[in-house]
Amino acid sequence: SKPPLKWRRVLLKVSGEALAGDEEQNIDPKVTMAIAREVAAVTRLGIEVAIVVGGGNIFRGSTWAGCSGLDRSSADYIGMLATVMNAIFLQATMESIGIPTRVQTAFRMSEVAEPYIRRRAIRHLEKGRVVIFAAGTGNPFFTTDTAAALRCAEINAEVVLKATNVDGVFDDDPKRNPNARLLDSLTYQEVTSKDLSVMDMTAITLCQENNIPGLFSITLSQTLTTCIHDHLKYNKNAYL
Ligand code: UDP
Repeated sequence: SKPPLKWRRVLLKVSGEALAGDEEQNIDPKVTMAIAREVAAVTRLGIEVAIVVGGGNIFRGSTWAGCSGLDRSSADYIGMLATVMNAIFLQATMESIGIPTRVQTAFRMSEVAEPYIRRRAIRHLEKGRVVIFAAGTGNPFFTTDTAAALRCAEINAEVVLKATNVDGVFDDDPKRNPNARLLDSLTYQEVTSKDLSVMDMTAITLCQENNIPGLFSITLSQTLTTCIHDHLKYNKNAYL
C-alpha cells in the first residue's frame, strides 16, 4: 500500500536564482524543465502545488534603488515585473510537459495572466492545476518570500517549501565559516535572533504568527521528496 501523503497542499517558493542555473542567461531552460518535472511528479501523487516565483535572477529592487534617481518603489515594481517573466516561462515549460498551470498576478495584467483571486486559486488547485503566483505581494518594499508566506496562509497550504542554495540551515554562513553547524531543528525565535537568512524577517514573522511550518533544503528535488516520503530524516521539529 502507498505511504500516506505528508501534505495535501504545499506552497513552493522558487527563487529567481533557482531558475538561473550556472548560465550567463537569466533563465536556464534546462533548469526550469528540471523544476517542472519535479513539480509534475508531486502533483501526480495528488498533492496540490502552488508556487510563488521570485525575480532576483532578472532584477532585484533593493540592488537598483538609488541608482540614477531610481526610487525604491519604482525599482520594486520592475522587480515584480521580473517575477512575471519567470512565471510565464515556468508556466510554458510546465504546460509543455502536460501540467495544467495557471499564473495569477498580484496586480492586473489581464492579457497575460489571471489576476489573483483567492477562491479561484483554490479552485484551480482542487482541479489539479498548478497555480503560479507572480508579482509578489503587489507592493513595493516586500519580497517574494513574504508573498510565499502570505499566499500560503491565504490558500491554507500546510507548509512553505523553499530550496535554498546551501545544504540545509546552518548556525552561521557556511561560505564564510567552515565550522558552521548544520541544524536539524530550529524555532522561529532562533531564526530571528541568530539572523539566519532562510527567509526575510517579514516572511518569518508572518509564518510564526500563523503557525506555518517552513522546510528548507538544498535542492528542489530534496524539498519536494519530503512531501512524499517520510523516510527522509524528518521530525516535527526538524524545520521551522
Ligand atoms: N518585489 C516587491 N514586492 C513583493 C515581491 C517582490 O517589490 O511583494 C520586488 C523586489 O524588488 C524584489 C524583486 O521584486 O527584489 C524580486 O523578488 P525577490 O527579490 O523576492 O526574488 P528572489 O530573491 O526570490 O529571486
